[in-house]
Amino acid sequence: MNSEDTPLRPSGLPPAAATRTRFGAARPARRGFLRAGLTGAAVLGTGVTLGAVPASGASRGTSRRPSTPQEALRELTAGNERWRTYREKHPDETPAVRQTLTSGQHPFAVVLGCVDSRVPPELVFDQGLGDLLTVRTAGEVLDEAVLGSIAYGVLELEIPLVLVLGHQSCGAVRAAVEADISGEELPAHIQYLADQIAPNIDRAKEGDARVDSTIDANIRAVHARLAAEPDLAAKVSAGQLAVVGARYELSDQHVHRLA
Ligand SMILES: [Zn+2]
Repeated sequence: MNSEDTPLRPSGLPPAAATRTRFGAARPARRGFLRAGLTGAAVLGTGVTLGAVPASGASRGTSRRPSTPQEALRELTAGNERWRTYREKHPDETPAVRQTLTSGQHPFAVVLGCVDSRVPPELVFDQGLGDLLTVRTAGEVLDEAVLGSIAYGVLELEIPLVLVLGHQSCGAVRAAVEADISGEELPAHIQYLADQIAPNIDRAKEGDARVDSTIDANIRAVHARLAAEPDLAAKVSAGQLAVVGARYELSDQHVHRLA
């Protein structure tokens, strides 16, 4: 995901400025109250949220926090380029940022990634505190808690980007492929993961190629499932959200877009 090929750029999105209403309108009191409870932000009686605006401004210095799908993708692309070329900025870690974030949060991307210790989203995208709402499950497998967490980020925090991030050499995908071949039950709750990944197994391939191809197919399937969620799809149609599938290569630390 480097700046030359910009593979994460969303296609077919309308101009963003006209669609973004992050701080424009007062929200119903119930939703405002819910947001305050979840973020710790102070809320006026009209539902106008305070706290998130200073957080975004202070944490980014002179640069504006991404507020559109396009801007969010550009920032992740730039961060991954810094990471893989050993030029990280380690943004949003200062004492001032930590204090500002006590009054609210305004992350600009949801990243649904694998639990794999080699692919922490804040590192591979060179982001800091308050920047990413991360949800991590082995193999990026979905369940109700994951869907609810993503919905919270998009609908309540009005995050403009959901990125599904799979990766090279995913152990969860390999386990699912091997269990499919052997027919053996995996221990404890690990079988649940395999069951979720199984429909995406690429049986046209063999050995390591099957694992690698299934990694891509699994990313695309999770992306398709999220993109079909009615609440998210409505946001996408309105140009307020992009749902993107991408893969991280352990070998060169590059993130490239798949869906
Ligand atoms: Zn993995």
